[in-house]
Amino acid sequence: MAYLNENYLKLQAGYLFPEVARRVREFCEANPAAARQLIRCGIGDVTEPLPRAAIDAMKGAVEELGHRETFRGYGPENGYEFLRSAIAQHDYRDRNIDIADDEIFVSDGSKCDCGYVLDILGDQNKIAVPDPVYPVYVDTNVMAGRSGPAGKDGSYEGILYLPCTAENGFVPDPPAEHADLVYLCFPNNPTGAVASHKQLSRWVEYAREHEALLLFDAAYEAYISEPDVPHSIFGIPEARECAIELRSFSKNGGFTGVRCGFTVMPKSVLARTENGRRLPLHPLWQRRWSTKSNSVSYPVQRGAEALYSPEGRKQCRMLIEHYMGNAKILRGAAANAGLAVFGGVNAPYIWVKTPNSLTSWQMFDRMLRELNVVITPGAGFGAQGEGYIRISAFNSRENAEEVARRLQKL
Ligand SMILES: *Cc1c(COP(=O)(O)O)cnc(C)c1O
Repeated sequence: MAYLNENYLKLQAGYLFPEVARRVREFCEANPAAARQLIRCGIGDVTEPLPRAAIDAMKGAVEELGHRETFRGYGPENGYEFLRSAIAQHDYRDRNIDIADDEIFVSDGSKCDCGYVLDILGDQNKIAVPDPVYPVYVDTNVMAGRSGPAGKDGSYEGILYLPCTAENGFVPDPPAEHADLVYLCFPNNPTGAVASHKQLSRWVEYAREHEALLLFDAAYEAYISEPDVPHSIFGIPEARECAIELRSFSKNGGFTGVRCGFTVMPKSVLARTENGRRLPLHPLWQRRWSTKSNSVSYPVQRGAEALYSPEGRKQCRMLIEHYMGNAKILRGAAANAGLAVFGGVNAPYIWVKTPNSLTSWQMFDRMLRELNVVITPGAGFGAQGEGYIRISAFNSRENAEEVARRLQKL
């Protein structure tokens, strides 16, 4: 009999979203009337249709594939040059950040990249993750055998957790301990926090001191509304030596179902071998793509390219303004209801302290029963998320306004 990957057995059974779905299903079965007016502010998925520029570009690309003269088969494994250069130009060089076209690797999304990137990193790496955090960083490491078993509070042995609390503004300082690989995500899911230039500089300094690698997830970069908030880890020039950035078209262009994202892998990022040689990661990443992937479909890459056209940019901006309008309404309503609120200014998530020391799940149940609103319990994102809930602004305006009204009944 074949052997299975036992690391999967270490994963926590009661994973967040299935448990949310179970509780919602049970409630709806028992309360059909309430079920009809249920509003979901839970899972972080977009709700609004795709930008017209992307739709037109994808239609045109599909049509090209239907004619001998314009047909294309396999494309470059790291993505078409037209898309890589649009990304490098608009997202980086236009902002005075030095990134070459061939340092961009197009993928089917950032969640996927979180798993793929572990392919080129050694098993010996000590991992540090913020707590609370996007669960994918931890689970992909557990699956790859880079943790011990989980303890009672759901934390895994061997992983260094960086507490994100109201006291540190949900931006952890670099720890005294050594780590080889540090995950950072700003603007943050779930807390909505952003890191300042100074705070990111301290992380870059830590990485250089410890010869660590930063994995910087900037999925919500487009939601930054305040000036002086860095849009990229490469806004700190020394990060070219010690950081990989993950980006996605899911949240700015509504591509959660279309699937497209990218990594930025500077050629200057080095990692070591067991016997102390220092080698660039870029060729390994290139090799990983050419061996294991044939990149993303041509129509999708044309759709992503169109998000950088003048119309595409305007349409993305309107989508983001829509969601951030919701965030403002929800944030205001929660504050009005007497709750302590965080986030929702540079990110589409509002991070709310539960009242009366309720646990996250108690608050989840209360909002489900009394308001018929589904939120995400903070404890599902890590031990430090206990006592918080996440309200997502991904919704119609009508629903956001209705949730705001219901919050006043708390
Ligand atoms: C939504 C999200 C992503 C994007 O994931 P895709 O796989 O590109 O859809 C990445 N990181 C975080 C923290 C997210 O919330």
